[in-house]
Amino acid sequence: MEALLEVKDLKKHFPVSNHIPFKKSTQSVKAVDGVNFKVYPGETLGIVGESGCGKSTMARLVNQLIKPTSGEVNFKKKNLIEMDARTLRATRKKIQMIFQDPYASLDPRLKIGELIAEPLVIHNVGNKESRRERVEELLETVGLNKRYAARYPHEFSGGQRQRINIARALALHPELVICDEPVSALDVSVQAQVINLLKKLQKEFNLTYIFISHDLNVVRYMCDRIAVMYLGKIVEIGTYEEIYSNPRHPYTKALFSAIPKENPFEEKERIILKGQVPSPLNPPSGCSFHERCPFAVDICKTTVPKVVTPENTHQVSCHLIN
Ligand code: SF4
Ligand code: MG
Repeated sequence: MEALLEVKDLKKHFPVSNHIPFKKSTQSVKAVDGVNFKVYPGETLGIVGESGCGKSTMARLVNQLIKPTSGEVNFKKKNLIEMDARTLRATRKKIQMIFQDPYASLDPRLKIGELIAEPLVIHNVGNKESRRERVEELLETVGLNKRYAARYPHEFSGGQRQRINIARALALHPELVICDEPVSALDVSVQAQVINLLKKLQKEFNLTYIFISHDLNVVRYMCDRIAVMYLGKIVEIGTYEEIYSNPRHPYTKALFSAIPKENPFEEKERIILKGQVPSPLNPPSGCSFHERCPFAVDICKTTVPKVVTPENTHQVSCHLIN
């Protein structure tokens, strides 16, 4: 199957001031540092990792909300980074985002109807009447009453606001939706409703999702494939079964050892990691995980591990795996 999205060697390095006048800083924060992955039509690719590992920066790079330092973001084989402004604008209609905080992402001065219609207005779609009809249809699609169009964001709960954000993201008939921690700010009981809604909409509109989360239980429920990020790099990627049942990278093993198994009688060893995630300003040499890795050997300190493919769809970067 052909990929809908293919990201190649994507990097985002933010320059850091050295506080020396007239001298250009050579230091940078390597927020995303050479990431490769594909997303196939109709699937959900989960991106997991601790906070600060570059997940959100990557989401914004894919949607071109920020410009990368280098690399490619190919949507249907066309590189967004090389597109002229007009083509990019048209392409971005097909790639929408849902953000974490449903409270911050809706302008409190606008009515719900105006908020949902905004992408249609920006992209010059339809007239006032057709937009009103589309807003009502979208509200019903996300399980809200169409009369809510006349109300303001403060009148709604977190879960309802996230539904409004989802309606807004769907307004332009996207193909790829990037969900950046879409339920992390919600109560657990509401999380399940929003997740179920996202799944239902995926089927109904044949959507492809990139689903970013630090919550492995949510990811387990939602994703077909999973990419594990550490310090701006993907250290392991594979199908849901490969990552949950047979994690190969020591970091993935540690992450997943912290969540309970579906079968409580299955033996599981908890791996506790030493220390904190190091600063992306001065990431460790070699394998950037070596300072915390319980299995590190000498070569890990000096040489960046290559990507290997132990199984068909499974890729890992670790010197111990070949
Ligand atoms: Fe651990 Fe070395 Fe593998 Fe990195 S390359 S994960 S330090 S064993
Ligand atoms: Mg984030």
